[in-house]
Amino acid sequence: MKFKNILIKTKDVLLEMLFPSKLKCIFCGRDIISFDNQPYCDRCAKEDYFNIGNRCCYCDMAIPAGNIVCDFCQKKHKYFDKAYCPLKYKDGVKNAILKFKSDNARYLAPTFASLIAQRIQSDNVQIDVIIPVPVHAKTKRARGYNQAEILAKEIAKILNVPMQTGVITKDKVTLDQKTLSYHERLKNVTSCFTLRDKSSIKDKNVLIVDDVMTTGATLNNIAKTLVGFSDKIYVCAIARDTVE
Ligand SMILES: [Zn+2]
Ligand SMILES: [Zn+2]
Repeated sequence: MKFKNILIKTKDVLLEMLFPSKLKCIFCGRDIISFDNQPYCDRCAKEDYFNIGNRCCYCDMAIPAGNIVCDFCQKKHKYFDKAYCPLKYKDGVKNAILKFKSDNARYLAPTFASLIAQRIQSDNVQIDVIIPVPVHAKTKRARGYNQAEILAKEIAKILNVPMQTGVITKDKVTLDQKTLSYHERLKNVTSCFTLRDKSSIKDKNVLIVDDVMTTGATLNNIAKTLVGFSDKIYVCAIARDTVE
């Protein structure tokens, strides 16, 4: 590094130490002073918001220590290889995701994407193409955007791999998964996705992106349409909800 560049870098570091970036905690909205761009306050850092500890090796759900696979994955076949969900869907996390979905708080996307990307990078998996969970054309027209697509775009930037839309389409308007029981959820999203573009995923490692993963029925049904065409299938969401 040239001496001039070292001076510029040192100046930036000193300025950051004296005047750290002003941020708002993504969970509680409190103003925070962050020296390392950690996007949440110290209080929220201590909350049980992070999906860490012993988790199912397929669906990333928290399970008792000593177990490897959750009860649901033992019963129901998973068409994806692994799930990555950095947060737990509760309290402050729930508020932040609801804001991202309904207030069109797009500024939260890079932060959520970076939490997901860190998980994937620390697992050392190779991703070749990123696909957002599609919404029905009618829903997208009404809402104006697809939040999974906004998130997928940010993850693609960090991992430096292409994001592809239109590979899979949703052809049936379904009921909101949140209003349904476990079995109703499984039925609700069965055969509503169609693989339209086989060439984009042929023999590739695919990452499917959603905002929240609950039963995993949506992600599992999308993964099912890719089986036999793509290579590995990974799925991810900002947060993991537990199945009631
Ligand atoms: Zn906070
Ligand atoms: Zn599981």
